[in-house]
Amino acid sequence: MRIVLVVAAHSDDEVLGCGGTISRHVECGDQVHVAYMTNGVGARGGDLSVEIVRRAAARDEALHVLGVEKSYILDFPDNKMDSVPLLDVIQKLEGIIDIVRPDIVYTHHDGDLNIDHRITNQAVITACRPLPGCPVQEILTFEVMSSTEWAPPAVMPFTPNVYINIADHLEKKCRAAGAYELEMRSAPHSRCIEHVRHLAKHRGYSVGLDAAEAFVVVRRIVG
Ligand SMILES: [Zn+2]
Repeated sequence: MRIVLVVAAHSDDEVLGCGGTISRHVECGDQVHVAYMTNGVGARGGDLSVEIVRRAAARDEALHVLGVEKSYILDFPDNKMDSVPLLDVIQKLEGIIDIVRPDIVYTHHDGDLNIDHRITNQAVITACRPLPGCPVQEILTFEVMSSTEWAPPAVMPFTPNVYINIADHLEKKCRAAGAYELEMRSAPHSRCIEHVRHLAKHRGYSVGLDAAEAFVVVRRIVG
């Protein structure tokens, strides 16, 4: 049994980035935890308390669909994580890593358009630096539709080198994404359910599988 920690900036990133892989880990008997850096709604207008409750309900439903039992919410400001000292973000995350003691960590790609995604990546890489006694053996970064592929050409492109077969988990991923229906858009927007399927097919077909999620391996330690 492996212990997995997914570190997402916003609720819905965990599903879009690695929902099929989460479902696969759960089915394998691995223990999956998800940490969210923000409540996902802070930068929006309207009645925030209603929005926060609604987003939390969507998150709970998505995690239930994927079979995740443990989650953590860090309340950093949505789409404004650059207004917080990076050290604060790292220290909060280190607290979660101390509790969870993950073998594998999944998080955002460092070349994303979204500022929270980039800061989350930086914080994870620092919090998981390979000091003696650090439990983390593997760090993998994922892509999030309408953020990773929208980054400008000057940043590090997402060039996957790990593909995880999610053919048996794609329907669950789509159901979990459906829980976030208010975050999803209509085709041909990048962030639509059809694109979840297309991307899974594209990543799968790229390596001879029916459906896959793609990752960049940042570090893997074989002890
Ligand atoms: Zn996000």
